[in-house]
Amino acid sequence: MKQIGPMKVYPLLPKTNCGVCEPKTCMGFAVQLCERNFTVDECPPLLEEKYRENLVRLREIFTPPIREVVIGSGDHKVTIGGALVLMRHELRYTNPPAIAVVVDDSMTDETVTKRVQETNYFHYKYIGKILTLDAIAIRSANEHPERYARLVEIVAKSTQLPLILWSHNPAVIEAGVKVVHARRPLLYAATRENWKQMGELALHYRCPLGVYDHEIRMLRSIVKTLRVMGVDDLVLDPGCGFRGDLMETVSALTQIRIAAIRDEDDLLGYPLAGAPATLWEKLYAEGKDVVRWKEACLSAMMVVRYVDLLMVSSASKWSTLPLVVLRNNIYNDPRKPVSVEPGLRTFGEPDPKEAPVFITSNFALTYYTVLSDIEKLDCHLLVVDTEGMSVDSAVAGRKFTGAKVAEVVASSGIAEKVSHRTLIIPGLAARLKGDIEDATGWDVVVGPRDSSSIPGYVKAKWYGQDHTPGWSAR
Ligand code: SF4
Repeated sequence: MKQIGPMKVYPLLPKTNCGVCEPKTCMGFAVQLCERNFTVDECPPLLEEKYRENLVRLREIFTPPIREVVIGSGDHKVTIGGALVLMRHELRYTNPPAIAVVVDDSMTDETVTKRVQETNYFHYKYIGKILTLDAIAIRSANEHPERYARLVEIVAKSTQLPLILWSHNPAVIEAGVKVVHARRPLLYAATRENWKQMGELALHYRCPLGVYDHEIRMLRSIVKTLRVMGVDDLVLDPGCGFRGDLMETVSALTQIRIAAIRDEDDLLGYPLAGAPATLWEKLYAEGKDVVRWKEACLSAMMVVRYVDLLMVSSASKWSTLPLVVLRNNIYNDPRKPVSVEPGLRTFGEPDPKEAPVFITSNFALTYYTVLSDIEKLDCHLLVVDTEGMSVDSAVAGRKFTGAKVAEVVASSGIAEKVSHRTLIIPGLAARLKGDIEDATGWDVVVGPRDSSSIPGYVKAKWYGQDHTPGWSAR
């Protein structure tokens, strides 16, 4: 990433310390800009006429080496690209790759509608987030404009998701874009043969344009020509495959991204597209299931290697779920532990006299694992601020202590919700039992090491002994 220091940025800010932005001072804002935690538009005074030149200069300084491209319009759009770094640990990755599911005009209307609905309704709850799919790619298998236009119409009626119109035949793309131009689909793709007509369509209908060529040199040349025409909202596809050309696929994506970010090659500074769905045609002879797992593997490799738009042949959970989880894990901020708010959570209808009170850390993965194990019980859960660390790491690192538990006991008001005074701590924090008792004045019992044992533990030990919280085992 191009390193930009706050001293280079500060002179271009208003330097009034007006306090309107969140950092409250201009130097604080400069530091946050350099960390890419804010954008220049979040300093309202900079938008005044007298700072116009400074604003232009700041926007130039902070333009990402990979442009952002928006597919779709209004509330139904997805932004791809905008990458700042080659390595995630240098800062963070920007804009998770969009995943589009492909339909084509060789399918029956029922199959198309079913696949679009599967894509619409695909969702998976993962560490407090809902993971979804992002777009539909409408492919022309028959290169028949009227048939294609009809398919586009059917898909457009079935979904609000952003659309990708996929054909190398300009007449087919024109038939499709006429139907949905207001939704600003991605036209995919311009090639060395059709770039002129595709460029004209992109200009006329004001849509982003994909550019496809398996040679990077040629890809670059097409981009240069399209830019002269005035087409600058581009997405690059160097092609993909699974046999001999697997290495070339990953290598091409990597070379393009290195050239754009490290070597500042402006002509390659665009989001990258990959279409593992094309494997269907190449490998169908090997059998449907073989192709599917190969497609899923290649897709995963492309997510790891810089692809910003992925077109896959199915919304089936078995092949798509690993991709959305992988994407989520790579595109979070490595500097921030994934955490949840500390405090009290209440489940069901806890009886004040005997409802168990559990304790856990605020590391998101721990919290959601515990939550899935206890949410059907009538109980309370106190979440300790461990700065996003799991229980065992937090105990070792002194982020989970008697004082921290006392803090959440006091601030949560749990003493008013239950009449007993017993806390159940995780088995992994067993050695803090005495420390927590001293700090809180509550009795402490040590619960299971693994939260999946909590329901059985509650039944057998908490209620099973004599219905008295804080049974003899403590
Ligand atoms: S809003 Fe702008 S002028 Fe005001 S303190 Fe922040 S950076 Fe400075």
